Amino acid sequence: MTDTISFQRCNDCKQPQYPLRELCGQCLSPDIRAVTEEASGALLSWTRLHVTMEPYFQERLPSLVGEVLLDNGLMIMVHLDMGLSEETPQAGMRLSLTERPALDDRLAYFAVPEPKGN
Ligand SMILES: [Zn+2]
Repeated sequence: MTDTISFQRCNDCKQPQYPLRELCGQCLSPDIRAVTEEASGALLSWTRLHVTMEPYFQERLPSLVGEVLLDNGLMIMVHLDMGLSEETPQAGMRLSLTERPALDDRLAYFAVPEPKGN
């Protein structure tokens, strides 16, 4: 999987950060930069949305959202894309993250299940 997501990383202590900040949340350094990296992690919890104000998702209801603890330590809310699978999301399942245009052409985080056997 070569999908990537954008976030920030501190140049001093290397701590990844999201949401975006002007100072590092770990060491308060202003020396932070935008990075684009591969990201994967474990699903912590999820729910099914039946109502949304976002036109992109109104066309795709019900949609799944979840909270993922990434291997780099970040915790991020994502849209779950289970693809054509009938599989129900399970806490602890491994997910790979990617960004796609969704919110008025702004990028949103999506997570797809990692292939079994990884
Ligand atoms: Zn730092």
